[in-house]
Amino acid sequence: MEHAHSSRIQEFIGDPVSDSPAISREKMEEIFQDIQADIRFDHELNGCLNCGICTATCPAAHYYDFSPREIVQLLWTENLEGIYDAMQEKIWACAQCYTCAARCPFDNSPGGLIMLMREAAIKHGMESAKNVLRPFSRVMLKLISTGNQLSPDMINAEGFPDWGPNISKVKAPLEVLRKAIPMPTLNTTATAWEVNLTTSIELYTIWEETGVLDQLETIDENLYDVILDIMDEKREDLADWEDEQS
Ligand code: SF4
Ligand code: SF4
Repeated sequence: MEHAHSSRIQEFIGDPVSDSPAISREKMEEIFQDIQADIRFDHELNGCLNCGICTATCPAAHYYDFSPREIVQLLWTENLEGIYDAMQEKIWACAQCYTCAARCPFDNSPGGLIMLMREAAIKHGMESAKNVLRPFSRVMLKLISTGNQLSPDMINAEGFPDWGPNISKVKAPLEVLRKAIPMPTLNTTATAWEVNLTTSIELYTIWEETGVLDQLETIDENLYDVILDIMDEKREDLADWEDEQS
């Protein structure tokens, strides 16, 4: 009798009840190779005893269906399907506190490895990365346009609906209070502190050279366009100022 030849290795992986397209094994390999090729990978992963000390001390593991031990095991055993699956949701539960790195007897850094997986998720334009980062677009715009993440005038009920009714208690006379700070760069309410124009331009160069802007383009093309306009404007302002000085 002749047996049918079949392989237990799945060529495609996908949730049968999800609308998301199945992903090819090649793509999973490409994603894993990107994670593994990062210069930090060998430093963050030295082996794994599967002891669970990282998970026992992880604050995120107390509140979510998430375990740094599981993530490290997936990477250590090169479980491509598991790695891809964890990148859909679990990796975004980490608070990046690095308690795990301080406790691991193998000197692993599960939090550092999760950071590499997050960066790969952004690079590959995964929906999970887009969904997680979408609510931060306002903060990213603020950071890139002013050099600050948060400004005093953002601390209001509209900006922080998740704070609940307590946010309404923040009714400080901001303008007066900020003017009372002895350092002039902190006298503003629209930014946490005033960032010098030259410093802003230097930051733009860093973001360009390190690929931060390319990552942003993958995640949110509209925000990327707005930010490019802001950067062009600021570069023109600096050029005008330099002309005036000369
Ligand atoms: S990463 Fe470290 S602490 Fe966590 S299970 Fe592996 S050996 Fe243990
Ligand atoms: S860095 Fe992430 S995985 Fe590590 S202890 Fe903190 S929350 Fe947990």
